[in-house]
Amino acid sequence: MNNRFPKWGTVFFMALRTGHLDEIERKIYSRNILIPEVGEAGQVKLLDSRVLVIGLGGLGSPALYYLAASGIGKIGIADHDRVDLSNLQRQILHGHRDVGRQKTQSAAESIARLRTDIRLDIHPFKITSENARDIIAGYDFVVEATDSFESKFLVNDACVELRKPYSHAGVLGTFGQTMTVVPGEGPCFRCVFGEAPAGGVVESTAEAGVLGCVAGVLGSLQAAEAVKYLLGCGRLLVGRLLTFDALAMTFREIQLPPAGRCGICGPQ
Ligand SMILES: [Zn+2]
Repeated sequence: MNNRFPKWGTVFFMALRTGHLDEIERKIYSRNILIPEVGEAGQVKLLDSRVLVIGLGGLGSPALYYLAASGIGKIGIADHDRVDLSNLQRQILHGHRDVGRQKTQSAAESIARLRTDIRLDIHPFKITSENARDIIAGYDFVVEATDSFESKFLVNDACVELRKPYSHAGVLGTFGQTMTVVPGEGPCFRCVFGEAPAGGVVESTAEAGVLGCVAGVLGSLQAAEAVKYLLGCGRLLVGRLLTFDALAMTFREIQLPPAGRCGICGPQ
């Protein structure tokens, strides 16, 4: 079972597409195609799109499932971690039998149950300042679904430098937040949150916990932002931070300051 996917590299489940929908694709994506903002042309766009999901945990699980189900043609999955028992309450890509396995492996198998025609790029290592730009450069949109401030700033800086749009989200306890960064069109994560706090200053999910379904809500919103960006429709969360409070069951929108307030996307 563990040998079904290569540890690293690209998995083709089917031959490359030809640029138009075949009969089976029309059936699979019929409920997408009925939406005026998608249509057949939009579905072809999604099938020709490349999205990178960084982090295959509580946020990455729903984001990856919905991106794959929506018909994104090529998805990169990046995570260096292995599945732990304490992950299963929210990281729905992975099951009990996956404990101890690489998250990229169990995620690839979960997605293979959903799609036979997807192209998956497997990055089973930590995203660092050395490799981030090389990896991110190959995608149209990035879903930042990491769980540390260090990774969030790293992904932000690489995306802004490469002018790659991406979705940020974070969850803790019964709260969540998300914003979309389109370099040149709005503020980046660093414009809003400044510098990464010193270790131990901010609580992590390992200390404060997180309700699994809260991560499910935020990860699904990230997938929606990716799909909207790729289709070129709707209003993205650019310049707006959306917060979610599951106890009060309220969403709040916070208007963000303009871009250019940090050392990454500023004039320097
Ligand atoms: Zn900035």
